[in-house]
Amino acid sequence: MIPYAVIEAESECLSEEAIRLRRDFHAHPELGFQEHRTAGIIARYCAGLGLEVKTGVARTGVTALLRGALPGRTVMLRADMDALPIQELTDADYRSTTPGVMHACGHDGHMAILLGTASLLAAHRHALRGNVLFVFQPAEENLGGARLMIEEGVLGNPAVDAAFGLHLISILPRGYIGTCRGPFMAAMDTFTIRVRGRSGHSAMPDGSVDAISLSARIIAGLGEGVRQGLPPGSRHLVNIGMVRGGSAPNIVADLVEMEGTVRCLDEQDHPKIPELMDGFLRKTAQACGGSCELIYEHGYPLTVNDPAMTEIVMAAGSLVVGADHVMDLPPSMASEDMSFYLQEVPGCFFFVGAGHPDAASNAPHHNPQFTIDEKALDVGLKMLASTAASFLNTG
Ligand SMILES: [Zn+2]
Ligand SMILES: [Zn+2]
Repeated sequence: MIPYAVIEAESECLSEEAIRLRRDFHAHPELGFQEHRTAGIIARYCAGLGLEVKTGVARTGVTALLRGALPGRTVMLRADMDALPIQELTDADYRSTTPGVMHACGHDGHMAILLGTASLLAAHRHALRGNVLFVFQPAEENLGGARLMIEEGVLGNPAVDAAFGLHLISILPRGYIGTCRGPFMAAMDTFTIRVRGRSGHSAMPDGSVDAISLSARIIAGLGEGVRQGLPPGSRHLVNIGMVRGGSAPNIVADLVEMEGTVRCLDEQDHPKIPELMDGFLRKTAQACGGSCELIYEHGYPLTVNDPAMTEIVMAAGSLVVGADHVMDLPPSMASEDMSFYLQEVPGCFFFVGAGHPDAASNAPHHNPQFTIDEKALDVGLKMLASTAASFLNTG
């Protein structure tokens, strides 16, 4: 068992190291599945700690296994590695040196926290019951690197008993932890709708079917059409984010394409949504004499926190930031590919507040001005180290 007093005492100098690492990652961001430099730094760092390192997992991912001196279970701690296609507009000394690419979601901080945690726990392997698997996962932003890591066996050797991950978050001030038992982040899917009519002269529309006016009915009614098929209070959103159609002002349009997203927080409702959309589209198209095609793609599943694992995180939070700074958050409509691991093994995903005390200097995630309060790295490091130690000790 590693006492919390030890974690607290040692995190101070390790979090300075984490800040240095984070700034280096920040200055050299890489997009999903292109994290080659990042992976090299991680692999060398973990090898230096004496961990069993694997590279090239899910193309650019890295795993590092710490075997404790005493037998026990295996806990996985995960950080994502990818940056975003955004031109950074901050004036930080360590701002991105790669045009058009930026760590604008805090994943640079996640990797730095996990390396600091690895360093802390590796120094205490003699007192550790069981193993800690540090997982550095590529391509969280839309590409689903987690799914590929699972396909390549990350949960299998040794078998992972529980998985934990965190996200630095600027809407929560530094010094706060937040999570939620059960469904925490929404499932997210994408869709394309092709609306077909029949073109004709706009002065003589008889016999033509206007795909644009049919689309207008769809845009106005789709959300309600889905809602009517689900129980009252169902937590879902259907959003059309792109519409393209028509060819000239005086031609009745014969084709409109729309693209959008579905988000859902209810496990029972989620599988019904494509069918409900399809039913609404058919009915609406038939009434106008047109037709509709729905291309529905499942994205990230629901991120569901195991209640017992969430208790471990909340207890760690009470030690690290104090019970009054541990927030029981409402579920979020955002999504996360941590969900793939949590479908396979129990675990918990949680938020670590990284907002600056001066709220005016906080920009949203995925914004060119995004920054974090780097003191949050120390909080994240203590959270992961004490969560892992506590899970292994209670096995
Ligand atoms: Zn993001
Ligand atoms: Zn993110």
